[in-house]
Amino acid sequence: MEKRFQYKTPKPRCGGNLATRWNYTEPAYRVAPHVWNVGGQDDVAAYLLDTGDGLILIDTGYEATLYLLIDRMWSLGYNPRDIKKILLSHYHGDHSQGVRLLYELTGGKAEVWISKEDEANHQRTKDDDFPMPVLPYEVTNFYDDDTPVTLGRFSIRTKLTPGHTKGATSFFFDDTDEATGKTWRCAMHGGMGVGMMRPGSKTMANELNTPDDAFRFVADCLEMAQWPVDINMSSHLNQTNVDENMPEDTNDYTWFIADYSWHDMLVNRAEEVMSYYPEKYPDLVRTIPTL
Ligand SMILES: [Zn+2]
Repeated sequence: MEKRFQYKTPKPRCGGNLATRWNYTEPAYRVAPHVWNVGGQDDVAAYLLDTGDGLILIDTGYEATLYLLIDRMWSLGYNPRDIKKILLSHYHGDHSQGVRLLYELTGGKAEVWISKEDEANHQRTKDDDFPMPVLPYEVTNFYDDDTPVTLGRFSIRTKLTPGHTKGATSFFFDDTDEATGKTWRCAMHGGMGVGMMRPGSKTMANELNTPDDAFRFVADCLEMAQWPVDINMSSHLNQTNVDENMPEDTNDYTWFIADYSWHDMLVNRAEEVMSYYPEKYPDLVRTIPTL
């Protein structure tokens, strides 16, 4: 099978059909030597990192699909009680609805991390039912982009990457395969949905975004697209078209090694936002089409 990890317009997927979420399930699949997506559905990812000294979870998915996440963890032999850090890419409920229940599962021991900017968003919107309610949870730690989040074999560098939300945070880390001795550079962008940078949109108002946030998003994407990344861990499966590129062997992480994927995803999203602002970007030529 020929694979092409490229941004794809979302199809009807789990998040829009939570009442029948059992129709949108995915297996756990390995994306790096010690990293699996255990989100269990076809929409939002939840990446489990086995640090050798406890577990890190990047995003949690929906409350409604948390049973799938817990099942996927057990299917890999991991105990959800061993989660020591929950890292949130941003405050939206599709990434954070599971925080409270996972925190409770760990006996109140798991750290909960977010950016200061998105903790402000979390506090601002925590009583809202739109777009989705969130069980109350408390943040215990804030990212400092100068100080990596470390546990066991992992040292995770963060970068504030506003645009999707004011506090969307991207993650960068190396993962070494002991069997081959090879080290792979892994990255996850914290917010590739760009509708909230479209002038005049309701979602732009919801996020308190200004055109300057959109311009910074474009600049950040174009800068980071030049950074070498071997494994692009997309925060939603459509962003790298995972469904159509799922490996036959879900334990074979080498399937996800594709040095163009990170670059192409970021440039595609930057070009999409640039198209919203023709006065700012009059010479835009699209180079990376959306599938
Ligand atoms: Zn979001």
